[in-house]
Amino acid sequence: MLTHNLGYPRIGDHRELKKACEGYWSCRLSAADLQAVASTLRRRHWDVQRAAGIDLVPCNDFSLYDHVLDWSLTVGAIPARYQSLLDRYGPGLELYFAMARGGWQARGDLIPLEMTKWFDTNYHYLVPEFTRQQTFSWLARKPLAEFEEARALGVPAKPVLLGPVSYLLLGKEKEPGFHRLELLDRLLPVYAQLLQALHAQGATYVQFDEPCLVLDLDATAKDAYRRAYRVIAAACPQLRYILATYFGALDDNLALAAALPVQVLHLDLARAPQQLEVALSGLVATQSVSLGLVDGRNVWKNDYARSLEMISRAVERLGEERVWLAPSCSLLHVPCDLELERDETVLPPEVKRWLAFARQKLDEVATLRGLAQATTCKEYTAHLKQNLLDQEDRRRSLRVHRSAVQARLAMLRPEDEQRASPFAVRQDKQRRVFRLPWFPTTTIGSLPQTEEVRRLRQRLKDQTLSAEQYEAAIRSQIERAIRWQEELDLDVLVHGEFERNDMVEYFGERLTGFATTVNGWVQSYGTRCVKPPVLYGDVERQAPMTVVWSTYAQSLTPRPVKGMLTGPVTILQWSFVRDDQPRAQTARQIALAIRDEVRDLEQAGIGMIQIDEPALREGLPLRRAAREDYLKWAGQAFRLAAAIAADETQIHTHMCYSEFNDIIEAIAALDADVITIETSRSQMELLDAFVAFRYPNEIGPGVYDIHSPRVPSAEEMVALLRKALAVLPARNLWVNPDCGLKTRGWAEAHEALANMVAAAKRLRAQMQA
Ligand code: GLN
Ligand code: ZN
Repeated sequence: MLTHNLGYPRIGDHRELKKACEGYWSCRLSAADLQAVASTLRRRHWDVQRAAGIDLVPCNDFSLYDHVLDWSLTVGAIPARYQSLLDRYGPGLELYFAMARGGWQARGDLIPLEMTKWFDTNYHYLVPEFTRQQTFSWLARKPLAEFEEARALGVPAKPVLLGPVSYLLLGKEKEPGFHRLELLDRLLPVYAQLLQALHAQGATYVQFDEPCLVLDLDATAKDAYRRAYRVIAAACPQLRYILATYFGALDDNLALAAALPVQVLHLDLARAPQQLEVALSGLVATQSVSLGLVDGRNVWKNDYARSLEMISRAVERLGEERVWLAPSCSLLHVPCDLELERDETVLPPEVKRWLAFARQKLDEVATLRGLAQATTCKEYTAHLKQNLLDQEDRRRSLRVHRSAVQARLAMLRPEDEQRASPFAVRQDKQRRVFRLPWFPTTTIGSLPQTEEVRRLRQRLKDQTLSAEQYEAAIRSQIERAIRWQEELDLDVLVHGEFERNDMVEYFGERLTGFATTVNGWVQSYGTRCVKPPVLYGDVERQAPMTVVWSTYAQSLTPRPVKGMLTGPVTILQWSFVRDDQPRAQTARQIALAIRDEVRDLEQAGIGMIQIDEPALREGLPLRRAAREDYLKWAGQAFRLAAAIAADETQIHTHMCYSEFNDIIEAIAALDADVITIETSRSQMELLDAFVAFRYPNEIGPGVYDIHSPRVPSAEEMVALLRKALAVLPARNLWVNPDCGLKTRGWAEAHEALANMVAAAKRLRAQMQA
C-alpha cells in the first residue's frame, strides 16, 4: 500500500515565499536570493513529507506564482505581446512576472494574463491564451530542473505535470474561429519530449493533474482525453502514470478515465466518497487506485473509522498492492502546520483538537496505512481510539450547537427574503435621496493597507496600543481617506476598511461559531495569502460589527459613504466550513447575522450598504446538474441578509475574478440595487452576457484592474465604458475599479482613480453634448 501526496503548500510555514517575491519585486532581493529561498522551501517540504512517511513525494508542484502560468512557460505558450521580453531575457523571471502582474516602467505597457478561480477554490490561476496559429515548444526547464534537484537530495520524487487536456480547457481562445482543443496535436509533442527527458533523468512515476475529468465533458473533450493519453503512453512506455482527478466525482467520465492507458487512477473520496464502489468495478486489472481519503480542501481531522472501511473495501477487491493512499487533492488549499497555532484565545484547544493542517494530513495518510495493515499493534489502536474520541467530542460540543439560532431559523417567513418594493420603485426613491450624477464614481471598499495600518493592528494585538489609541488611529486613517476621496471628487465614498485584516476574517472574529488562526495562511493568488477562519458551530452576532467605523466616516462628509459588509455566501466560501450540516443551513445562519448588521447600519443613518459576494460564483457546483439548487440557496441567503433594508436604502453588492456570464440571471435575482463587478482584466468579456440578457438593475463593470501596479489611462477607461454603454442603459451605469485597493499604494491608486474620475466626467460631458 503506497502512500503519496499530490502537492504541498508552497508559501512556507511563515509565508517565506511571499516575502521573497515581494522583496525581489521591490529590488531588495536579487534573482539569486529569490531562487535560494525557493529551493530551501522545496527542500524543507520534501523533508517534511518524507519524515511523515510518504513514499512518493511530488516535485514541480512548487511555483513562484502560479502552476498554470508555470505550465504556459514550460510548453512555450507565450502571448505575442511578451515576445520582445522573451527575446531579450529568455523564459526567466522578467517574462514570468510580467505575464503574472503586467509590465510597467521600463518594461513597457504590458497587460498581464487574465486571472480566474481554480475550479471551485479560492485559488486563482493565470489563464493561458491561445491563438489559431498557436504553436508550442518546450521552453522552460522547470519540471526537469525540480526533478533533478529532488533526485540530487535523494528524494523519491514524482513530477507533477498539468495534463494536456485540462491545460487546454483552462485556457481561452483569444481570437475567433477555432476551439482550443484543436491545438492538442501541436501540444502533445512537447509532453512527449518532456516525458522522455524525465525518464532519462531517472523518473519512474509521473502525475498528470486532470481535474477537468470531474466536469461535464462533451464528446470532443472525451475524445481529446483518449488521443492525448494514447500519445503520451506511446511516447514513453517506461514511465508509470498517475492520473489525478479531484474536486468531485468522475461519474459519467469514469469509464473514460479508467480506459486511459495509465497505471494509477486517483479519486477524490473526500468530496465524492460514493464513487468508490463504481470505480473499483471499473478499473482495468493492471490498474491501481489511489484513494484520496484525507480532505485536501478542509481542515477537519480525518474520520479514521470511515476511511478504514473504504480502504478495506478497496483492498478486498484489488489486493493491497493495487491500493494507494493519499490526500484528496493537492494540500495547496489548507494551511501548513497546525502545530504553529499556539494562541488559545483565537483557536481554543477544544477546537484545535478537531483539526488537521497539511502537515498533520500527511501524518493521517501514513497512520491510515499503519491502521489498515496492523490493526492489532498497540500504538495504532491508541491512534484509532483517540480519533474516535475527537470525533465524538465534536459531535456533542456545546460550542457547536446553539438553540437560539435554531429557533430563529425556524421562524423565518418567505417575505423575509424580499425587499418591500420592486427595483423600479426603489430606484426612483433612491434617486431622489442621493441625487447622483450620471455615471457615478465609486471604489469597492478597501483603500491601500500600508505597513503603518498593519502595524496598528499588530500593536493592538500585542497590547502595545490600547483599544482607545487604536480606535483613534483608525479614525485618523478614515478621516484622511475621506478627504483623499473628496479631493479626487469621487461621488460615493468608502471608509477604507483599515480596521480589517481581511474581509472574512474580520467578521469571523466577531461572530460565534468561528475560530481564527494566527498562522493558517493559504495562497489566494501569487503572493496574496488569506487566513480563512474555521466555522465550526452555530453562528450568531453578539454586537454591531461595523457601525462605529461607518458612522464616523459618514459624519465627516456630505457625500454618501457606503457601509461595507461581507455577504453570507462569501463568508461561507472563504472559511473552513463545518461538515456536519448542509452548507445551505450554515449560509442562512450567517445571513441572519449580516441582516442584523444591515438593520443597525440603516438605523444609524447609513444610506448605502454594500454586501460583497465575490465568492458567489466559486461556490457553484462543478457539475451543471447541481447548480440550480446551489444558486437557489445562495441567492436566498444573500436576500435574507439584504431584504431588511428600506426602499430608500441602496443595497450594493460586488463580485470579482470569476466567470459571471453563465450565472448572470442568478446575479440579477439577488436584486441588489447596484452591483460593481470585475471585468477589465478580460477586456469586458462579461458584457457579452448582456446582449442576450437585459440586466435590470444598476451596474458598474470595473474599468481598472487593481491586481496590477499598471495605471490605466483615462482614454483606456473611456473606451471600456463605451463598450459597456453599447449593451447597458447609460442611466444604470456606474464607474469603478475591478476590486478593492488594499494591495495598491496610495500614489498609484490616486493616479488611477484620478483617470477614472476624468473618464466619467468625459462621458458626462458627451452625454450633454
Ligand atoms: N470590499 C472589499 C474590498 O474592497 C471587496 C474585496 C473583494 O472583492 N475580494 O477589499
Ligand atoms: Zn473584488
